[in-house]
Amino acid sequence: MQTKEMPIRILPSPLPTKGYAAYSATSGLSPFNFERRAPGPRDVQIEIQYCGVCHSDLHFVRNEWGMSIYPLVPGHEIVGKVVETGEQVTKFRKGDIVGVGCFVNSCRTCDNCKEGLEQYCLNGAVATYNSYERDGKTITYGGYSNQIVVDHDFVLQVSNKLPLEKVAPLLCAGITTYSPLRKWGVTEGHKLGVVGLGGLGHMVVKFGVSFGAETTVFSRAQSKEADAKKLGAHHFINTSNEKDVKEAAGYFDFIVDTVSAKHDYNQYLEMLKTDGTLICVGAPPEVEPIGIFNLIMKRRRIAGSLVGGLPETQEMLDYCAEHGITSDIELIDINYINQAYERMLKSDVKYRFVIDMKTL
Ligand code: NAP
Ligand code: ZN
Ligand code: ZN
Repeated sequence: MQTKEMPIRILPSPLPTKGYAAYSATSGLSPFNFERRAPGPRDVQIEIQYCGVCHSDLHFVRNEWGMSIYPLVPGHEIVGKVVETGEQVTKFRKGDIVGVGCFVNSCRTCDNCKEGLEQYCLNGAVATYNSYERDGKTITYGGYSNQIVVDHDFVLQVSNKLPLEKVAPLLCAGITTYSPLRKWGVTEGHKLGVVGLGGLGHMVVKFGVSFGAETTVFSRAQSKEADAKKLGAHHFINTSNEKDVKEAAGYFDFIVDTVSAKHDYNQYLEMLKTDGTLICVGAPPEVEPIGIFNLIMKRRRIAGSLVGGLPETQEMLDYCAEHGITSDIELIDINYINQAYERMLKSDVKYRFVIDMKTL
């Protein structure tokens, strides 16, 4: 009897990858070797050059939101160089400089995906780390690593006009602040407040000023006044100065709250005009109750906002390239990451740590 020979399909081998991971909520981060999938037909393989350090990385590493999956490789402010592309990829070529933000996949068919709001995918977007791929099994690992493989639809074009290490934080801190300011149409004639001068906060100042709004920084640290003004802010209010806080009542059209820890939102609601909006982007694990009359009496609103979709992220990167907007950063070696987290908790960073991935 004759047997028909089966054609042999050789599957490409997975890519050995180096990174830093947390193994539990208390382990801190240390070296971790793992594998990434070999690039498929729609994939782009990227050698990571820089990755920003977001406060969300710290919330996840320490399981502060109660949803961490270990080992956990954080990092969603990624820039790097394309080293390989699948045969269906036409938008990118080897050598291109690209970015990857907070998401690496989504369903692409729901109403939100069709509108370019992949972050709100109704079937669950796949986050760059601490998430399951669409197969429901493979855990995603983020940018504290030497390379990443991403579907080309979720890869962004990055201009080489700007210093790349300062561009990396735009992929989360940048889009998270650009998106709500655009959504709510913050522009000339508006009075804009920003609570917390950190990674997100300093980007609110840059975009707010660039969009023409009169911009005020609220911070606990008097030492940040000079920086706030250097960043372009028109006013600075030290939140421990009760008199200044009281005098700001009813003044603002919009306040963007970027605070990472439990604090009182009511103080900022009172500073809004009639019809004013408090935009919450900071995501503290616990929140204080909201006094309902602070909303009712002046028809004020509280809004939330999650990063931004792909088209808007590209728009933001292009806007930044055109207007010379980047993040203020402190470049660090990867073995400094645990100290960097401690300093971030003390708000001792101007204004974003970025990991130089050459040091991995
Ligand atoms: P960050 O650089 O650490 O900045 C947070 C700022 O909050 C600090 O600089 C500090 O400002 C202020 N702050 C910290 N603790 C405080 C406290 N106990 N009371 C009052 N103010 C306090 O963090 P980040 O990377 O900008 O992230 C900020 C938050 O946004 C985090 O919760 C993060 O998870 C979240 N996030 C959300 C999104 C989204 O899509 N919505 C995206 C990225 C990040 P001062 O020192 O000036 O007072
Ligand atoms: Zn982030
Ligand atoms: Zn979707």
